Order: sequence, then structure tokens, then C-alpha cells
Amino acid sequence: MKIYNTLTRKKEEFVPIKEGKVSMYVCGPTVYNYIHIGNARPMVVFDTVRRYFEYKGYDVNYVSNFTDVDDKIIKKAMEENVDSSVISERFIEECKKDMEALNVKPATVHPKATEEIDGMIEMIQTLIDKGHAYPKNGSVYFRTRSFADYGKLSKKNIDDLEAGHRDIKVTGDEEKEDPLDFVLWKPKKEGEPAWKSPWSEGRPGWHIECSVMSKKYLGDSIDIHAGGEDLIFPHHENEIAQSEAANGVPFANYWMHNGFLNINNEKMSKSKGNFFTVREIGEKYPLQIIRFFMLSGHYRGPINFSEELVAAAKNGLDRILTCVNNLEHLYDHAKEAEITEDEMKLMDEYTALSKKFEEAMEDDFNTADAITAVFDMVKLSNLKITADNTKECIESVLGTIRVFCDILGIETKKEEEMLDSDIEALINERQQARKEKNFKRADEIRDMLLEKGIVLEDTREGVRFKRV
Ligand code: AMP
Ligand code: ZN
Repeated sequence: MKIYNTLTRKKEEFVPIKEGKVSMYVCGPTVYNYIHIGNARPMVVFDTVRRYFEYKGYDVNYVSNFTDVDDKIIKKAMEENVDSSVISERFIEECKKDMEALNVKPATVHPKATEEIDGMIEMIQTLIDKGHAYPKNGSVYFRTRSFADYGKLSKKNIDDLEAGHRDIKVTGDEEKEDPLDFVLWKPKKEGEPAWKSPWSEGRPGWHIECSVMSKKYLGDSIDIHAGGEDLIFPHHENEIAQSEAANGVPFANYWMHNGFLNINNEKMSKSKGNFFTVREIGEKYPLQIIRFFMLSGHYRGPINFSEELVAAAKNGLDRILTCVNNLEHLYDHAKEAEITEDEMKLMDEYTALSKKFEEAMEDDFNTADAITAVFDMVKLSNLKITADNTKECIESVLGTIRVFCDILGIETKKEEEMLDSDIEALINERQQARKEKNFKRADEIRDMLLEKGIVLEDTREGVRFKRV
């Protein structure tokens, strides 16, 4: 399997640290608002990478953090006059709902920065002890020039960076030994959340979070560290400096970065205001379509979000889902008989397409080409599978298509029908809500059932339901 490694700017053969295992850290969102569809791109892309590893039989330890202490969260908490944890907890929950709707599997662990402060203090102390960091007026800074490999990921030359820095003055720069030094710990300002530390009551810098959470849950050296390409510098460069200076071993063997999701060829971002939240888009389209749209292009390239491209993704996805539906129908009515010679030959064609799918994925996760292989399977099925085929043959074709859709995170199974007992429980809850004059909840339940094709009728004997 080949992975493009940002560290070497080359596609390299993937060799795991421990045979059969993959340790992966993906930088997660700062939770001060709903995530936008740009933030969803790394989630979808690296979830697909994980799914492919799992398909290949690897045991994947997938860690993705929530940055739940940050200036933007504090600002929002001040605006709403609540504790900053109220904001972060709210948007962590909302983010998890969006991830589920995008069919992104929950990480093995989703650590939160605020719950890992002890580990951060420990690593900062190690860096001070080793001469890579120094305290100053309650802050602690990383001594950038003390790490000889600084710039190896972003390919930036430290002297050029220094020259660039001379013209921009940042607050706090005057207390640093060198403008290139970056903050590991900062003392609190009035009204900010803070933790006790040997240097001041304060909070950690952003970069130290990921170094510490990655070490705690995955170890000093990991297989893959990933995120959007905007994180290469300074975030990932600084993570490498901190981790390698503290631990004395290489931090991550493969660095993977997704390209931007653009709108009108400009990066979608909250600060530019040109963004759509996943929630808004989910009201317009099933989020499966957005997932499929994101995987239709190579993860390293930019993708432009437009109505036309989403419509094209919808058509493509519909083609796959219709084919699966037809195959299910054929399967239900197919004859039980021994698989025929011709069918065996047909199976070979599917095996060749499966190989094509795998080759695409093994070439730095080329999901665009992998999707083409699935389309080829769909074409073949539409052309060759009929009511005359055996159950065994149809089952095998269905199984193959399903496996590959599953790697892409595309759900092909119809929603399970609701059980009668679940419906009755909801009807009871609705009756109770009506009694309490909570008509909003009562209507919500009626609409929810209606969406699943269940109609309620008031009769003399009580409420009855029927499936339509
Ligand atoms: P943030 O909350 O800004 O730290 O972003 C969380 C993740 O989303 C990071 O991996 C970012 O690189 C990624 N990201 C943010 N905006 C975009 C975008 N427009 N396209 C792709 N990835 C993005
Ligand atoms: Zn990070």
C-alpha cells in the first residue's frame, strides 16, 4: 500500500510499526460552533482511510481530539455569559451528530484537551528540563532554534522564517528569547478558564495538546498523523518539534494532509464567512451525497463545492443504490440452484473489478478511481444479472458491491423497519405529551412516524397505526 507522505513529498510503501496494527491521529475541530463542510472533509477522508485499513485486516487505533479550550470558545462563552465548557460540550455533541450523519465512525478515543492538562504540564516540564523550553512571566515558550530539524515537514528554512518575523510584531513577542519561539503555556486573563501549573494559573497552547494526546493514546511514535493541509505549518511543524524534542524518537512515520474544500475556488472557512455548516447542507441533501461528493475527487487535491457537482454526485450515488435495490429484488425472487459455469465466469469479472478497486485504494487512497470500479460493477450487474440467475450468484454480486460501498462509507442497506413495540412506545409518549398540552412534542412524534411511513388514526378504541 502506498501513501503520499508530506514529510518526504513522496509516495511511500506503508510499513506499520507493529505488524497488523495501525496507529492514527487525526487533528479534530475546535468546538465553538457547528462544523462546516470544510471541516467534514478530513473526517470523511480519514474515516475512509481507516475503513480501508480495517478491510485489509489491520487493527486500527484511531484517535481524534476535540479542541475544547481556545480563544474562540472563550469569546463565544463570554457573549452568552456561560462557562466555556457549556459551549464546547454543546458543540461536541452537535459535531458527533454530524459525524454520524456523514457515516464517520466514532474514533477509538476522542480525547478532549481540557481533560489532558496534567499530561501537558508534564511534557512542558520535560521540555524545560531538556533545555527546549523556558518559562517567562507565567508563560512557557518552546525554544524553536533548539530543535535542529525545525521546518522538516513544511520545508521552511528557519532563517527565512526569522526574516519574515522581523516585520510583524505580535503581542508577547518582546518577552520571547526569539520571535520564532511559540507558546506552550499562557497565564490566564480575567474570566478565562484556567488550570494550576508550576508557571502560572493558565492554559495550554494549541500545539501541545496534540503532542500529548497522541503520546498518551498511541505512544511516542505513531504510524500516521493527519489533518487538513492548513495544519502543516505551524501546527504540525510545532507538534513534531515538541514531541521529538521531548520523546527523543520520530513522532509520526507518515504525514497525510487533505486538500481544501473550496467555494468559488476559495477555501471555505469560518473567518471568511463563506461557509455552509454540515447541518444546513443536511437539510438540503442526504449527507451520504456529500460524503460521496467528497470521495469523488482525490483527497490531496482541492474540491470545489457547487450545486452542479453535488447534483452529479447524487446521480452517481443513485445509480449505485438503484442497482443494489434491483439486485435485492432479484435475489428475493431468484431460484435456489447450483451456480452455473457462466456465472462462475461472470464472477471472475467481478474479481477483476475488485482488484481494480483495491489497486486504486492502495495507490494513496485514490477514491475517485475506486468509485469508478464500483460504477463498473454496477454497469456489469445492470447488463448481466437477470431473473434467470441463481440466488448464490446474485448474493455474491450483492455482497461484493456492498463491501466496497462500505469501505467508502456508503450505506446500501435500507433503514430497518420500526418494530411495533417501538411505535407503540412512541404513541404512548405522544398521548402523554398531549395530556400535558405539549403539542410541539406530540406533533414531532407524529411527523417522525409519518416520515417512516407510519400513519396514526384516532379511533374509539384509542390510537391505531398503519404502515403505508
Ligand atoms: P479547525 O476547527 O479549523 O482546526 O479545523 C479542523 C479540521 O478541518 C482541520 O484538519 C482543518 O485542516 C480542516 N479544515 C478546515 N477548513 C477546511 C477546508 N475548507 N477544507 C478542508 N479541510 C478543512
Ligand atoms: Zn493537532
